[in-house]
Amino acid sequence: MLFRPKYVFNSIADISTDFLKKENIRALILDLDNTLTTHNNPIPKKEIGEWLSEMQRNEFPMIILSNNHYERVKPFADALKLDFVCDGGKPLTKGYKQAVAKLGFKKSETASVGDQIFTDVLGCNLTGIRSIFTYPIVYETGFWFRVKRTLEKPLIPSRKRIQK
Ligand SMILES: [Mg+2]
Repeated sequence: MLFRPKYVFNSIADISTDFLKKENIRALILDLDNTLTTHNNPIPKKEIGEWLSEMQRNEFPMIILSNNHYERVKPFADALKLDFVCDGGKPLTKGYKQAVAKLGFKKSETASVGDQIFTDVLGCNLTGIRSIFTYPIVYETGFWFRVKRTLEKPLIPSRKRIQK
């Protein structure tokens, strides 16, 4: 099912190295807005910043893939010393393919984390990489976002699916 994520976590900060090892995930593609931080926020949420540092201490390969623009993505990625693909065009596969190529692992060893069904989850499934859904940090208030969130509502995974 194209709208069904492979894994569900409450927050990206809950993804453990043990889980990644167990599932043979060797590289991660990270959504930015509402996955790492709230929209237009230049710094990651505290516990997510700590998670990123820990992952980097373990030299775990990660890259940001965002549909947002260069001016938004570049300073954020630079501050975290992460590579990035901006204007990613998710759910189209082009940005994912670029990100996978930059990471240098097989698609089967790569997974992607994101908070939106119609961009992140669909994009992973179209690309053929595993998707990790995390609930949005906050629900957006803009009109089009509310429309999108309403449409995806029936597809949001049950909290019962949250990985331990
Ligand atoms: Mg997002």
